[in-house]
Amino acid sequence: MNMRLSFPPGSPGPLVLVVTALAAAFGWSLSISPWLSLLFAAGLCLAGWRARDSFRGAAEFAGRLARSVELVDSEAFRRPVSAGAPAQLDRIAAALAEKNIELTASTRENRRNALIVQAAFAAVDDPLLMVDGQRRVLLINEAAARAFQVDSSEAAGRRFLQVVLEHEIDDALAHALEQGVPQALELDVTTSTPPGRYQVRIQPLAAGGSADASPSGAVVAMRDVTRLRHLERVRSEFVANVSHELRTPITSIKGFIEVLAAEEVPPEKRARFMAILKSEADRLDSLLTDLLDLSLLESDTRPLKREEVDLAQLAARVVMLLEPQAHRKEIRIAVSMARDLPRVPAHPGMLEQALVNLVDNAIKYSPEGSEVAIEGKRVGRDHVEIAVIDNGPGIPSEHLPRLFERFYRVDKARSRSLGGTGLGLAIVRHIVQRHGGAVRAESRLGKGSRFIITLPVEAEEAPVPPWET
Ligand code: ADP
Repeated sequence: MNMRLSFPPGSPGPLVLVVTALAAAFGWSLSISPWLSLLFAAGLCLAGWRARDSFRGAAEFAGRLARSVELVDSEAFRRPVSAGAPAQLDRIAAALAEKNIELTASTRENRRNALIVQAAFAAVDDPLLMVDGQRRVLLINEAAARAFQVDSSEAAGRRFLQVVLEHEIDDALAHALEQGVPQALELDVTTSTPPGRYQVRIQPLAAGGSADASPSGAVVAMRDVTRLRHLERVRSEFVANVSHELRTPITSIKGFIEVLAAEEVPPEKRARFMAILKSEADRLDSLLTDLLDLSLLESDTRPLKREEVDLAQLAARVVMLLEPQAHRKEIRIAVSMARDLPRVPAHPGMLEQALVNLVDNAIKYSPEGSEVAIEGKRVGRDHVEIAVIDNGPGIPSEHLPRLFERFYRVDKARSRSLGGTGLGLAIVRHIVQRHGGAVRAESRLGKGSRFIITLPVEAEEAPVPPWET
């Protein structure tokens, strides 16, 4: 509320009243020296005038300072604040101006650093999160937002556990923040999309201030190692399989040689031993040949040397090559190719090997006197299909998805007794995939099996398939 004091006409003015009041307070009598009173009044007026000037100067200075603060970080800010201010404020103004320049510089540096951290987070393809000392998310990159199906802007400020939903990581994070020590763990993360195996590293931010202060936050870096671990497992299983496959015939060969060397063996038994030795040596030979083929297929990343392959001619050649095996089991191989079957751009040697492996299996696993068929037809405008069909024992459906894996066999003993290596179908799949095609198996238990290769009519250069299974 504004209040105004008014003085009736003829009454002493406010100045005289103030002087009189002050004189009374100090116990002076105006009647003792009216001149002294007047002089005192004049002095008070002058002091008031100067004080008013000073206050006005200070007020203006404060105003300029306030405006100046609003301009922090701009060029205008650098102009001296104190111009025109009373002299005693000059030093404060200069110190403030200096502090302000430092502040501007550090504000800019902070902004730049924040942008660098944001850019670094965005550039990382693996999930990355930064949390504060209370485990609240400060920053989350796109990969983490995707993996944990959250919106990055919504995740910021939420508890780490509410975003990642994995207690084991949250516990490790709490430990890192408490102890100020980096943590590393590997675990199956079921809450990510897709679920997978993750390597998690937690790096606490350096504690500011005193040595015993706890970290003000931490960076949680996650790396999806699902595929890496899978490939490691596949590789080590492969090495174990190869060692096992090699050791079996070698042990057998060694045993027979020791017997033959140690004792006199009757000619009949000796002939039997020699036959076993030959078959074991053949097995070793087939195994090494298949292994070498596989390794060549995998290591050769050059584009295929293609030719326009006539599939009917190819099938006829395969029948001729496998005639001895078929003849031994009195198996008839029928070839039926559609009239409109186009030539396909393929590596003739590789395609022949794929077809040989399929027809060889069909003969191997079919009963004596049965029939094997090779059929070719066009599928749609862009593909051809070559099917190898037999009337053998068939394959239980649960085995079909893994049939093309290295060393996968439905019946190990049977495969070995028939001279199988367990690599034939893996080689077929590799060859077909390199041609941009696919291979699949269909089977009815007790009725027979059908292996179907699909190939593109136009050349499709496919990358070397990865060593997945
Ligand atoms: P193998 O050298 O053991 O024949 P493959 O990779 O060629 O190895 O085949 C893998 C497994 O698939 C075989 O061990 C066999 O159990 C099964 N299999 C392949 N072809 C046939 C078929 N035509 N009929 C029945 N089973 C088959």
